[in-house]
Amino acid sequence: MPAAETAAPAPATLAQASLYQQLRGHLATLKLHDAAQALPAVLDQARTEDLTMTAALERLLAIEVTANQARRLAGRLRFASLPTPATLEDFDYDAAPAVDPKLIAELATCRYLENATNVLLIGPPGLGKTHLAVGLARKAAEAGYRTYFTTAADLAARCHRAALEGRWATTMRFFNGPGLLVIDELGYLPLPAEAASALFQVISQRYLKTSIVLTSNRGVGSWGEILGDTTVAAALLDRLLHRSVVLTLDGDSYRLRDHHAQADTLRAATTGTRKPLR
Ligand code: ADP
Ligand code: MG
Repeated sequence: MPAAETAAPAPATLAQASLYQQLRGHLATLKLHDAAQALPAVLDQARTEDLTMTAALERLLAIEVTANQARRLAGRLRFASLPTPATLEDFDYDAAPAVDPKLIAELATCRYLENATNVLLIGPPGLGKTHLAVGLARKAAEAGYRTYFTTAADLAARCHRAALEGRWATTMRFFNGPGLLVIDELGYLPLPAEAASALFQVISQRYLKTSIVLTSNRGVGSWGEILGDTTVAAALLDRLLHRSVVLTLDGDSYRLRDHHAQADTLRAATTGTRKPLR
């Protein structure tokens, strides 16, 4: 690119040159680096397109705002630790007849995050549970939510280390922080009692405040087995299902509603007599 295109417009006077340098200095001091870099080009445009002062300033600051938003999104996506590049857009609905595209489109708006609705993706391996979870997490990050992806096994291991190293409270705060927490692959490995209670604490502290997307290859009826304790499983399901969307990938269609009835059935199946938490 010829130097003349990016260099500052030739100043008519020394005073103008120093004013230009001061302006660049201000932008640098304010760390508006993208605006500083774009300044010569925008000043050129202002002259050649006869822009008003307002239009030129708007154009300059829009460059900074766009770059700032891109940096913040990149930061959120880095933090999110998504394991694959999957997106909701590349999910093939023909290959997954049990998944309603309308429901996914609704979830893609991220409205469920506003009232701390949880999303459960249940079904056998390979049906796209992780794919959908990653896609939802990506949408949440794009919408500005702090998002974090983990697996049940990782969460358990991390809580275990935290307990040993005296960092339990910090770790619980960490899992409480994100507006969306994805917990992938519950049920692939049976969890030790300590892990089940860590998971329970994470779910409890987020209950009605922030959303969880959770995937499992086991139907909720067998969570007592996974968690090694039917009482913990029932209490955990109470909170998880109270405000939730459950997508069952291998069979019936999804259900989008309060899952009181379902939670009651599950509770009866796992503990018999416990009263619902409302
Ligand atoms: P699960 O978590 O249910 O075991 P995954 O989400 O890991 O399954 O899916 C396995 C692989 O198949 C992934 O690469 C995923 O992207 C792909 N996949 C599964 N279902 C679909 C689908 N309906 N459309 C596009 N890709 C899919
Ligand atoms: Mg998976």
